[in-house]
Formats: sequence, C-alpha cells, structure tokens
Amino acid sequence: MPITLLYHDVTPIQAEDSSGFAGPEAARYKLTPEEFARHLAALAGKVTRSPLAASTPNELRSAPRDAWLLTFDDGGTSAITEIAGQLERRGWRGWFFVSTDFIGTPSFCTHSQLRELRERGHVIGSHSCSHPERISRCSPRQLLDEWQRSRAVLSEILGEPITTASVPGGFYSAKVARAAATAGIEVLFNSEPTTRLSAVDGCLVVGRYCVYRGMSDTDATCLIGDPLRRWRQSASWNAKKIAKKIAGPAYKLLRQQLLRRVSET
Ligand SMILES: [Zn+2]
Repeated sequence: MPITLLYHDVTPIQAEDSSGFAGPEAARYKLTPEEFARHLAALAGKVTRSPLAASTPNELRSAPRDAWLLTFDDGGTSAITEIAGQLERRGWRGWFFVSTDFIGTPSFCTHSQLRELRERGHVIGSHSCSHPERISRCSPRQLLDEWQRSRAVLSEILGEPITTASVPGGFYSAKVARAAATAGIEVLFNSEPTTRLSAVDGCLVVGRYCVYRGMSDTDATCLIGDPLRRWRQSASWNAKKIAKKIAGPAYKLLRQQLLRRVSET
C-alpha cells in the first residue's frame, strides 16, 4: 500500500500564475522552489528508498510497505522548468498528470516538453481534457469523453499507451472511476487521503495526501513516516466532505470569500 503525495506546481512568490492554472485558489497548492527543495531534502532524510515510478497496477499492488510516490497535477510548465530537475538531482522520478486541453497554452507544458519529461523517465498520465470544475457532476458520456480523448492525445504525443490518470479537483466518485476503466485507464489517483487501494471495474484506485504552500517540510515528511499525521489529514478531509455535502454552494461561496480576503491582504 504505497503512500502517495499530491503536489501541483512549483512557482516563485508573486509569480504563481506563471505555471498551471491561474488564480488564488490554484496558488494555494503551488510551493516556492525553495519550499519544494526543503521538502525533498527532508523526505530524502526520512525515506529508505526512491519514490516509485512504476505504473502498472500489479507493481503498485505488490509494492513494499514503505513504498511511496510523488505525483504532480495539472501539467504546468514548472514540471519541466523546476520539478523534474529537483527530483532528478536525487535520482528520483515523479508522476505528472496533464489536462490535455491546456497543452501548449501559456503556463502549461508543450508537446515537446511532455516528450522530454517522459524521456527523462517520469510517468505521464491524464488529468482529463478540460479539468471540469466538478467532474463528478459530468454525464457518463462527458466522463467517457474526458478520459478517452485525453488518453488518445497523450498517447499520440508520447507514442505509447497511457494507462494512468488522476481526478481533477478532487471530485471523485465511483461513476468517474467506471468511466476511466471503460476508457482503458488502469490506475486512477484521486485526492482521498488514504493508503488503501481499491478497484472499480478493474481500475485500481489510489488515494493521495495533499501538500500545499506553507506546509512545513516536517509536516510533509510526516505524511510519509507518521500514520497519525496521515490519519489527521484523513479526518479533516472527511469533515470537509460532510460540510460540503450539507452546505453545498454555501460552503463554496464562503471558501471563495475567505480566499479573496487572504489574497487581498
Ligand atoms: Zn487539477
């Protein structure tokens, strides 16, 4: 049961929009290069093996207890300009999940940058085509299209079948996984903080622990080594899930207002 960390972009302060999705909501998950370097150094001091970069369900299922993975969502340019280099200096490789409608647009990786990432040994997977605001609300037909088309685009760019994906926005549901399985995705990462693996229609579903700007290197490292810390993130995630279910749009509005206030200060 590998432990999987979920990162996004790595951008300097005041230049958050230079990689990946723009805006204060996305910026919360973007670490500075210095922060990211501190996280990697702290992780290196704690782990006994390199992060796993094998992408078949069997390799993940049979991974040793202390196996761990580094994943990066969205496909922003910092994957190639910052993250890959920092990982490679330690002999590590990451998993990069790309929303294919944004490939080649400003602040997102181009075709050749994705090919380069792959050639340098990183795993590339789908993060849907359009990064729907709430993918769990898409119709089964839309869902199938998001997974099938993004797979086809990436397979064409990289010249190999794409069999891994991550769910955008953390809006996972069994329906989302079923569509991914039908589209040929064999391993689907969501944002549920758990090490428990599950399967939906033969597609392996893997949870992840989210890392955000301002999280200390000690806290990030504890996610790997300290089950209690992982339990805490899991408990807070479940509490938020219930709040979202009960309050729905009111919760979203309140969160946006809070974020606006933080970004104005
Ligand atoms: Zn995303």
